[in-house]
Amino acid sequence: MSEVKHKVVSLDYKLFRDHAEGEMIETTEGKQPLVFLSGVKQMIPEFEAQVIDLNVGETFSFGIKAENAYGTRNEEAVIELPQDMFKQDDKLIKEVVVDNVLPLQDQNGQVVPAKVVSINEETVTMDVNHPLADQDLHFTGSVVEVREATKEEIEHGHVHGPGGHEH
Ligand code: ZN
Repeated sequence: MSEVKHKVVSLDYKLFRDHAEGEMIETTEGKQPLVFLSGVKQMIPEFEAQVIDLNVGETFSFGIKAENAYGTRNEEAVIELPQDMFKQDDKLIKEVVVDNVLPLQDQNGQVVPAKVVSINEETVTMDVNHPLADQDLHFTGSVVEVREATKEEIEHGHVHGPGGHEH
């Protein structure tokens, strides 16, 4: 076991489906770099392991299998909910459209993205599997900035300053 490293890493990245020639599904291009604190289980562990020892300006390109990324699909995560949960003034809210992803609160109060599968007579079928479940991923990118995390950041478990919490 190597010791836990607490660094604040900023990076530009592109995320592709399956492999480096796959469809691009996320990018920081034209946006702020991704900023994260390592060693607090914020990121996919394999992602963190691949980038944590890189220096500023270094590039990366690696794949992560679905089971080590967002996991495998679980059919029990396809659930039927009463339409009342999605109604306002007795009408379904306009966001309830097949294939739309809505924020849904689970029993622990955590907000999870849920995809509308079908709108039934009295219910709505939602899929709360992660949208990238069962999906092999490929990341490319480069490191923009690396610094040691401050004691306060490690205590709080998040980044302070640009790209992080402002307090
Ligand atoms: Zn804080």
